[in-house]
Amino acid sequence: MQTTGTHIAYLHTCKRKLWLFANGIGMEHTSETVAEGKLIAETTYLDRARKYTELAIEGIKIDFYDAKNKVVHEVKKSDRVEEAHTAQVKYYLYILAKNGIDHLRAIVEYPKLKQREWVDWNDELLLIASKWEKDVQIIVNSESCPPVINARICKSCSYYELCYVDE
Ligand code: SF4
Repeated sequence: MQTTGTHIAYLHTCKRKLWLFANGIGMEHTSETVAEGKLIAETTYLDRARKYTELAIEGIKIDFYDAKNKVVHEVKKSDRVEEAHTAQVKYYLYILAKNGIDHLRAIVEYPKLKQREWVDWNDELLLIASKWEKDVQIIVNSESCPPVINARICKSCSYYELCYVDE
């Protein structure tokens, strides 16, 4: 299985979520959240398509790449800054570096919070992201689903019912 940015984000959110998603169980995005994300992209970043490039390479898809300034932009509709988001863009920088587009920076943007988090290139990313990639493969190929984590984020997780109600 090809590792994607979503897998890396879930690795940092919940290993059970990663396993369920990668094994095709349930749906992460309801049509409502997809519509919301689309609306944010269309209204807040209307002029970006003209300035920035879309990049798809080795399982990752970057909507806004600023080739002139060597910056990857990732837009999150979340109203919370999460480590999973920065991990996801670090993975993007790693994949791009492996493909000869290196020493980039990335910004995770939160339009709802009017906030942005910068991620700078660091040679250690090569080692760190490569380990994440291996960790993802080990988890998704495991025969058993990891246990529930009983965390605050569970309440807003699309797998909540599956994890806490259906069992
Ligand atoms: S509800 Fe909680 S335990 Fe279940 S997948 Fe989501 S985050 Fe993980």
